Amino acid sequence: MMTPRHHTLLLVAACALGSSCAPQTEDRPNILLVTLDTTRPDRLGCYGWEGAVTPKIDALAARGVRFEMALSTAGITPMAHASILTGLNPYNHGLRVFHGEVGHTLRGEIATLPEALSAVGYETAGFVSAYPLSPYYGLDQGFETYRTGIEKTQDQLDLTQPVRSLRESVLLNEPSSRFQRRADSTTAQAIDWLKKRDGDSPWFAWVHFFDVHDLSLVPPPEWAERFGVSYDEVPHQRDLALKEAFYDMELAWMDHQLGLLFDHLEQSGALEDTVIVITADHGQGLSDGQRLHGWSRHRLIYQWSIQIPLLIAGPKIPSGEVVDALARATDIAPTLLELTDAPPLGPMDGASLMPLIAGEKVEQRIAYADALNLQDSHAPLSRLPEGCRDDLHAVFDGRYKLIHHRGSPEESELYDLESDPSEQHDLYQSEPEIAERLRAFLIEDQALSLRKVSPEAGGPDRDALDQLGYTGDDSKD
Ligand SMILES: [Zn+2]
Repeated sequence: MMTPRHHTLLLVAACALGSSCAPQTEDRPNILLVTLDTTRPDRLGCYGWEGAVTPKIDALAARGVRFEMALSTAGITPMAHASILTGLNPYNHGLRVFHGEVGHTLRGEIATLPEALSAVGYETAGFVSAYPLSPYYGLDQGFETYRTGIEKTQDQLDLTQPVRSLRESVLLNEPSSRFQRRADSTTAQAIDWLKKRDGDSPWFAWVHFFDVHDLSLVPPPEWAERFGVSYDEVPHQRDLALKEAFYDMELAWMDHQLGLLFDHLEQSGALEDTVIVITADHGQGLSDGQRLHGWSRHRLIYQWSIQIPLLIAGPKIPSGEVVDALARATDIAPTLLELTDAPPLGPMDGASLMPLIAGEKVEQRIAYADALNLQDSHAPLSRLPEGCRDDLHAVFDGRYKLIHHRGSPEESELYDLESDPSEQHDLYQSEPEIAERLRAFLIEDQALSLRKVSPEAGGPDRDALDQLGYTGDDSKD
């Protein structure tokens, strides 16, 4: 279905130079894209969580559109973000693993959302909060300004020793460490950029928060009091009740920081001209993931890992609507290109969400996600649940979800999410025709092909990934 897209950038450049496809920049809205790392929709008030701690996010949902069922393309940070920024599934954008011979950087010839917006006059900036979004993975491609917050050298902070326990790694009042930073640091930098920019051109800012990803990336101590936790305790990933208390506290902190960003937009008069998208790269197992599938973190491609919040508000977006039709992370870039009258990036796997928002009848969208555990030199293979130590490819047609096991296809899984949203009753043996119909998508789209590349010497910073909990020994969990 997909074709090579070598001329994508030329297309974008041609539109920028010509007048026929370039409306006046003053007609174009600003774009604020917020990605909340590891944030499950069902922990947000606007998705029905009773213990809601997210008033700012919920208020944005109320004045915009909320997508009830939105899926990411991966359970891991860089791969999922690459899909958001390109509109492509991982087998087309090329960022497949943390490190390995199937690609760990965004392929250079792939056009990105900031490149397209820049070509039609936007100022572009990315403010991210953790190493997995560092330029190592190529996610800075196309941004004029790109800040990771990990510029400080080791000796500028008192966090120079390898983390031996989470207690030692609790940051308390420290807003940034070697490999990640807290939402207040990221927010301050984004607001500073917004204040300092001048001129009338519209802007595109991507703001990424990492707090709920890491138990140790905690808000200031007064927040602990509010959430009934103590930083004197030793939180552990396996202490699921405490983990969930920390998760909610850090989610509330991110919401608070988003509120400061929204306040700035309102005070500066930019809010009404700004389209705001809030989403996540993936979810998190928490206690239900552990109970249902033996995994409390992310990476796998069950719903608790790949279902994401998706909210959009601003000019041309109706208020208070809920869309039930399937939306995908790859639909975000095409939607923003439509709202900004920017030319397409080239063939994309995603499609604009505007027809769904307008309630039009559209062809059923197919969602894809993968976890190439066998190809990733940073996959915690021996610790994954036994049935998941394989390359996993998911296809979802709005009702049925196939999880194809690449190494052992006979162990593939099939779920009817309408009657079995928790993915507990495997229909793979009893419904072979449905499984084959979904598998045909993988074959037609060449989703199973593994494009071999030469991995860079050295690979990513293993210490960074270990300390952020992606790999390493169990004591870090
Ligand atoms: Zn992530």
